[in-house]
Amino acid sequence: MQGQSEKIMNDKGKLMLSMLIVSTVIVVFWEYINSPEGSFLWIYHSKDPIGDGSTQKGWWFPSWFKNRTHNYQGNEEEDIEKGKAKEQRKEDEELQLWDWFNPKKRPEVLTVTEWKAPVVWEGTYNRAVLENYYAKQKITVGLTVFAVGKYLERYLKEFIVSADKFFMVGHKVIFYIMIDDLSRMPLIELGRLRSFKVFEIKPEKRWQDISMMRMKTIGEHILTHIQHEVDYLFCMDVDQVFQDNFGVETLGQLVAQLQAWWYKADPDEFTYERRSESAAYIPFGEGDFYYHAAIFGGTPIQVLNLTQECFKGILQDKKNHIEAEWHDESHLNKYFLHNKPTKILSPEFCWDYHIGLPPDIKAVKISWQQKEYNLVRNNV
Ligand code: UDP
Ligand code: MN
Repeated sequence: MQGQSEKIMNDKGKLMLSMLIVSTVIVVFWEYINSPEGSFLWIYHSKDPIGDGSTQKGWWFPSWFKNRTHNYQGNEEEDIEKGKAKEQRKEDEELQLWDWFNPKKRPEVLTVTEWKAPVVWEGTYNRAVLENYYAKQKITVGLTVFAVGKYLERYLKEFIVSADKFFMVGHKVIFYIMIDDLSRMPLIELGRLRSFKVFEIKPEKRWQDISMMRMKTIGEHILTHIQHEVDYLFCMDVDQVFQDNFGVETLGQLVAQLQAWWYKADPDEFTYERRSESAAYIPFGEGDFYYHAAIFGGTPIQVLNLTQECFKGILQDKKNHIEAEWHDESHLNKYFLHNKPTKILSPEFCWDYHIGLPPDIKAVKISWQQKEYNLVRNNV
């Protein structure tokens, strides 16, 4: 009898002890994942904040797991207050890369550059975390687009209507539309939180110059008003259409787009400007990616510097009677060689269906329009 009750006591003791150990482990783990060091879950861990910030951890956990307050027995109120203060401090912090970005979600493609910038592919970002942060920031995003000559009738309306639907949904957007004839501005009804400003610009004679002079015009507009009106700015070609959400996952200090045809190629194959006489010259053996001039962006101040530097290169080339092979795109690639983008968008963000649809491309956000150079370009 005695032996049996001793055994029962013993078993009880063991059970209590193991429960104690298990709960200690749970509490320690809980604290750890919510501490700054808790990002052990991420392989890639950079100290540089990229862009923005909510500090909610919890890629791996349902949302109820976040925002919890400790309710230990005893001094509940004090704990709740401490919890609130901690949340407030967190909100004041910058959003860290590992709060929203998981490069391991797309192991088959390059998701982090040598300089530790994220290459944003479908599946690598947690939009809910980003939305939560940017909603609190009450951001405004600008988008410049040029439609000069025949590009106006052919592409502008479709571009703006699709951007209205898919660009930065839920956030304030200002479209900056540059056209050569105000009377030909199409009638477009925009959704809530969207507005546009139309400007008349002088059309250049050659299509090459229309394309290149965008660098000058964008810079001037950033200086005179855009810098006071938006937090982030994108600059895009008009000959493309939004197909799916192009959202806050694309925001950053300096954002570049991978060109769809070149994302798998070796840098020595890229169509960089290879003549050393041009300001856009990039020698063989150099270069990281081939970036697409159809989409670039960042903070107004970063985009200002980009456009000014590219335009300087364009002017220098004019003086030396040389024109870079791919015009503004060649100068843009030279700029990004020495001013590394802080964020790169995968070709899913600007895809050409003429390539087909390889398995890498999970969700196309913008697609190229049919190129009809013979119809829309003034072939001087
Ligand atoms: N563009 C324009 N009218 C022109 C030539 C160019 O409005 O006659 C603008 C338009 O926004 C266009 C961009 O400049 O999307 C770049 O030109 P394009 O798209 O033809 O270059 P590509 O993408 O073929 O290199
Ligand atoms: Mn284009």
